[in-house]
Amino acid sequence: MSGVLQSVGRLGKFVRVASEFCYNRIYVGLGFQTNFHSNPTTVSQSDMKVHLLPALSDNYMYLLVDDATKEAAIVDPVEPEKVTAAVNKEGVKLTTVLTTHHHWDHAGGNEKLVQAVPGLAVFGGDSRIGALTHSIKHGDEFKVGSLQIRCLFTPCHTSGHICYFVTGEKDENPLVFTGDTMFVGGCGRFFEGSPEQMYQALVKTLGALPDNTRVYCGHEYTVKNLKFAQTVEPENTAIKEKLSWAQQKRKEQEPTIPSTIGEEKTFNPFMRVEVSAVQKHSGTSDPIKTMAIIRKEKDNF
Ligand SMILES: [Zn+2]
Repeated sequence: MSGVLQSVGRLGKFVRVASEFCYNRIYVGLGFQTNFHSNPTTVSQSDMKVHLLPALSDNYMYLLVDDATKEAAIVDPVEPEKVTAAVNKEGVKLTTVLTTHHHWDHAGGNEKLVQAVPGLAVFGGDSRIGALTHSIKHGDEFKVGSLQIRCLFTPCHTSGHICYFVTGEKDENPLVFTGDTMFVGGCGRFFEGSPEQMYQALVKTLGALPDNTRVYCGHEYTVKNLKFAQTVEPENTAIKEKLSWAQQKRKEQEPTIPSTIGEEKTFNPFMRVEVSAVQKHSGTSDPIKTMAIIRKEKDNF
């Protein structure tokens, strides 16, 4: 009996490896780009799945699937061919585009995707976003299948940046797509906003989400962010542990995403501007000045 079970186990492993292999090969067959910076992976919860689709040199697109209806949304589809291949592979119905902000490496694929999949609803908070059909503001809510999406306005990296907070019907981890507002261990540059706005976005808006909220951000910047975080708080063991975990993941070409809001509060210096160790490093007891100072340091890191 155990021999049979072992064989079944081996077969299962073979199928998994083979399917991953095929998944990567599909793109070769169709002539699409194959240079993933990380292995495409899937995070499953009881009523939804998030497929992580690596794009460009360090971006992530996310295919969010409602298990109950097989309806799907794509976050920041900069490489539409990879999106349509994943939609076909998963057998889901793509209805929605969630755009975090107008930068080309996030919104640059919208027009092409809308041509390939007519009738898509394209959400975003900035008129500079291509193919926009639904202009949204803070607190707006809508559904993708049975999943509830809430829009969180987080201007600073760009003046129209939106994060998307997602909850299922079952009581489980919610999740948030943070674009270039929050990264694992860091935050986006202040291209069109102020330290006050980033403080509001990270500490007040995203920081108010439940601690078990999973964080899906726009780029794979974790290792570099945590190396910077160590210069701010050399004594912080949460930073040290997360950094060595992330370095191991990257060695295996695995994504370091998602983290959680609760975790970010322990190692992300930009979420920790009210913590005395971070303020001491910055030479001020004002959280907004602290935000300005450590962002400036990070810009030159
Ligand atoms: Zn950006």
